Amino acid sequence: MLDYGLTEEQRAIRDLARSIAEKEIRPVAAEYDRTGEFPWPIVKTLAAADLFGVIVDAEYGGIGDGSRTMNMVLVAEELSKACGGIALAFAGSALGAIPIMLAGSPEQKQRYLPDIAAGRRLGAFALTEPNAGSDAGGIRTTAIKDGDHYVLNGTKQWITGGGEAEIYVVIALTNPSKGPRGASAILVEKGTPGFSFGKKEDKMGIRASATRELIFEDCRVPATNLLGREGTGFITTMRTFDASRPGVAAQALGIAQGALDLAVDYSIGRRQFGSPVSSFQGLRFLLADMAMKVEAARALIYATARYIDSCPKERPTIYSAMSKCFASDVAMQVTTDAVQVFGGYGYMRDYPIEKYMRDAKITQIYEGTNQIQREEISKILIGEHVAGHARGAQD
Ligand SMILES: Cc1cc2nc3c(=O)[nH]c(=O)nc-3n(C[C@H](O)[C@H](O)[C@H](O)COP(=O)(O)OP(=O)(O)OC[C@H]3O[C@@H](n4cnc5c(N)ncnc54)[C@H](O)[C@@H]3O)c2cc1C
Repeated sequence: MLDYGLTEEQRAIRDLARSIAEKEIRPVAAEYDRTGEFPWPIVKTLAAADLFGVIVDAEYGGIGDGSRTMNMVLVAEELSKACGGIALAFAGSALGAIPIMLAGSPEQKQRYLPDIAAGRRLGAFALTEPNAGSDAGGIRTTAIKDGDHYVLNGTKQWITGGGEAEIYVVIALTNPSKGPRGASAILVEKGTPGFSFGKKEDKMGIRASATRELIFEDCRVPATNLLGREGTGFITTMRTFDASRPGVAAQALGIAQGALDLAVDYSIGRRQFGSPVSSFQGLRFLLADMAMKVEAARALIYATARYIDSCPKERPTIYSAMSKCFASDVAMQVTTDAVQVFGGYGYMRDYPIEKYMRDAKITQIYEGTNQIQREEISKILIGEHVAGHARGAQD
């Protein structure tokens, strides 16, 4: 195995997540996929093992100091090897915690992060609306100041953890006349009057993850629930995605690795023409290609996570986008090839492999589709090139 220079603590976190994934998640993954229930018993196990705390600093009840992104990546990867849907109970809560860590006041951090770190309450992040997906600037949900409160109205769609999570970071327009520049991040707790949930989605994959609509009807929250300053909602969103996309990438990586492991195993046991199918070069090369892609994805994700944790002056946007885009494309290719290795059995729900293919697909879609990631990567790439030429001309 390649040495990625993980610290002793990071290896311990990875091994703990791996052990829970194998012992507690793998045996129940198919059942949660069938029922679509939220995996509360697993959440409790992860909480008891302090795994929700790996992304929060010690000051706020966690153990993440200096290694939050790498920790998130390691846990998301290990859990996703067993079930990409159940892993989202962890990763979705991390997505809710990140904007609080990035933009929260000390009081807000003290109020919310210890609960998230302990797994007592889950976090969620709500940006998407029925008419605002990739074009997030088109959101319509408003949060209008009324004395010392904000009053929220609008609907958020497809929110991971919706209905199960208790702490929601909602991106809403505090100054609608300014468009996206008038957007702010607001904390809304489950149970607040005027805040309800719409239908739970019936999804292709990651079925153990709850995806629901959030409905705000004259929902009043204290003005102190504003995260950061008014008008900084999209800056907080972009910084959140910079930090969270390696988590989606790690989910994709875990799904791909899990599928590869099953495919290698199956190819050794399945015999045709008097030999294991693993002896046929056509299949061996397919497996080799799958393994190369998975390891390349891991190298990129780990390097990106380490870069983010080193608190660079430059935003890590390009590397986060590359990790998410590359790893999720790898996951889709590898899981599709894994089904091929299983042949007709791979197409049957009696076998675990088709679920990996269904689970992989979402990683190309959420937290910005891969078209949007490629847009971001090329924008930075070309922008830097042009800036380099301009500097050269001045010299
Ligand atoms: C299971 C699930 C969970 C989710 N969880 C959350 C969550 O927790 N919080 C949250 O806020 N959101 C969440 N989302 C929403 C998710 O982030 C959006 O679905 C995603 O950003 C894409 O938006 P859209 O679905 O409206 O697609 P659209 O924006 O309508 O895109 C349709 C197609 O057009 C392409 N496209 C759009 N614009 C461009 C462009 N400029 N250039 C090239 N191609 C383009 C897209 O790539 C896509 O292929 C979730 C979605 C799902 C399905």
